[in-house]
Amino acid sequence: MKRKAVLIVCDGLGDLQINGKTPLQMAKKPNLDRMVSHGSSGLMYSIGPGIIPGSDTSHLAILGYDPKQYYSGRGTFEALGVGIKLEKNDIAFRCNFGTVDRKFRILDRRAGRIKDEGKILEKEIDRMKIEDVTIIFKASVEHRAALVLRGPGLSRNISDVDPHEVDKLNEAKPLDGSSEARKTARIINLFTKKSYEILSKHWINKKREAEGKMPANIILTRGPGIYEPVISIKEKFGFSSACIAGGALYKGIAKYLGMEILEVKGATGRYDSDLVAKGTAAVQALKKHEFVFIHVKGTDNAGHDGNLKEKVRMIEKVDKMIGVLIRKSNSIIALTSDHSTPVSLKAHSGHAVPIVLYGDVVRRDGIKSFDEISCAKGSLGILRGLDVMPILTSLMGYSKMYGS
Ligand code: ZN
Ligand code: ZN
Repeated sequence: MKRKAVLIVCDGLGDLQINGKTPLQMAKKPNLDRMVSHGSSGLMYSIGPGIIPGSDTSHLAILGYDPKQYYSGRGTFEALGVGIKLEKNDIAFRCNFGTVDRKFRILDRRAGRIKDEGKILEKEIDRMKIEDVTIIFKASVEHRAALVLRGPGLSRNISDVDPHEVDKLNEAKPLDGSSEARKTARIINLFTKKSYEILSKHWINKKREAEGKMPANIILTRGPGIYEPVISIKEKFGFSSACIAGGALYKGIAKYLGMEILEVKGATGRYDSDLVAKGTAAVQALKKHEFVFIHVKGTDNAGHDGNLKEKVRMIEKVDKMIGVLIRKSNSIIALTSDHSTPVSLKAHSGHAVPIVLYGDVVRRDGIKSFDEISCAKGSLGILRGLDVMPILTSLMGYSKMYGS
């Protein structure tokens, strides 16, 4: 018999003890504890022990794709996530609208966190041509955007224009001796200048300056990736899948793997995200799909912000979503994280994260609380990210016998 499954990844969920307790131990989470009491638990290193995972590589691994083989730069996922249709060998960048002065010194990497102006400004840049390369540009939320270079003889092996802090703009440099890397760096440097020429004259920016706001007068590129189509989840595992996420990166990864992206009202990828709406949407999506992946970003934001209260609150919000899934989904439910983002460190760390599986074919291992310390005694032991999908697919009834 085949079963359906929901996989929830709470970004940056793992943490360290603060006054003796981790945020998971502090939170009121009756549904998560019910899941663990009726299921199997363990710990997981999404990439491997001691490796500090990025969110992109760790999600690939958890979704069953070895990042060593399938990861070719973050820009690709960002571009897919904002809805750009990529073609093989496109070079994609993650970018920001920024503010520079006449000497190209950065005054603000986020252009005063512009609101919807990016959607108007994008039209001035999208479909621009430099030499034989077409520029595809799409604004995302606030100052964020994605850029794609489409043309012959390009490489992703160039450095970032974005200096990542208030400083002088970097020039894109080729990172190897190839003519492709040199060409790509040249195009990006020409593009950066052109973006300033066009944007600094735009009426939106004149208006912002008149109002004493930072103008969005330059595009800062970083994280180049090269796109190559990959085998889809449907082809790899045999079932159809959907993704519910707020952040562009996670939608992009899901798109890359051939999942259907579901837009849920109130799913923001921030603290204010409506997680109950996401859970309800997942229950709905299970009517059409066998597998639903839900991403929750707020737990990671709280870690980066060093905000313990918000992290505990996000866990309690996740718990309410789990309540909906337990009551209504009639499926296997798995919950884990891509890495730890301890509030005391305000950054990703190499600490293992807890994982729990719940469902009618899941063995109860007697663990009572879903947290880093209790799950260490669970029956799953210590897994790696790449183990998650094989375990789920066998519970779902899609695995074939090895041998006879
Ligand atoms: Zn993450
Ligand atoms: Zn993070």
